[in-house]
Amino acid sequence: DLPTIFAITPTYYRPVQKAELTRLSHVVMLVPNVHWIIVEDADHTSSLVTNLLQRAGLVERSTQLSAKTPTQFKLQGKDPNWSKPRGVEQRNAALRWIRENTSKDDRGVVYFMDDDNAYSVELFEEMNKIQAERVGVWPVGLVGGLMVEKPILNNENIVTGFNAAWRPERPFPLDMAGFAISLDLLHKRPEAVFSFEVERGYQESEILRHVTVLKELQPLANLCKEVLVWHTRTEKPKLTEEEKLRKAGKSSFD
Ligand code: UDP
Ligand code: MN
Repeated sequence: DLPTIFAITPTYYRPVQKAELTRLSHVVMLVPNVHWIIVEDADHTSSLVTNLLQRAGLVERSTQLSAKTPTQFKLQGKDPNWSKPRGVEQRNAALRWIRENTSKDDRGVVYFMDDDNAYSVELFEEMNKIQAERVGVWPVGLVGGLMVEKPILNNENIVTGFNAAWRPERPFPLDMAGFAISLDLLHKRPEAVFSFEVERGYQESEILRHVTVLKELQPLANLCKEVLVWHTRTEKPKLTEEEKLRKAGKSSFD
């Protein structure tokens, strides 16, 4: 039987939010063993997310949480997007929920599913293969300045490193979308969480260093030859006309 895949999605209010979450909901709908944990970067959960989950028929296999990023860590208008860590508070809230609501004997997998990436249904079939006490890894498209950032295997199919070009000295130079963790490891290592205090690009290494070592990584997606997830990013829409309507009090959107 299949593990429950706990897919953790940090998300925040902005014009494209509903479009992003709608796209993600359709993948979740196609993979019955996913439990989707949506964590809003806000003081309260929103009716936008509640309604979306209802319309997708996902109420029974989802959890809606909120966890606001502390003000000193929140990106401000003109900050470049990489200047502060994103999703830290939200992912940690979801990890707390998972640790409180599952037991170490449950078969499960935990995946960090950001709201703007593009996911293949096949990726989740790969996650089903993750063994007890292991972390599955696979290639990610369009990230780190490369077409594909991926684990490197030796002739015994053991992971010996990564092809990363950006900060390759990181202990685990891979993207958040490129791994999933067996649930038992999170119960065994309660100290495995994300942190605001780490350097840019080190969030993945921060959690992984607590739960695994390089040679224990389980290569998936046809021995890391297939790309089943892409680190796409959504352009911020130009809403200049909407802005004019708003100033004239004629927009129905706040
Ligand atoms: N995010 C958030 N609050 C923010 C910025 C981002 O909850 O203030 C979420 C976002 O919705 C996404 C994740 O954190 O699911 C990673 O953010 P983003 O995709 O902007 O980061 P990048 O992929 O550029 O590293
Ligand atoms: Mn992103």
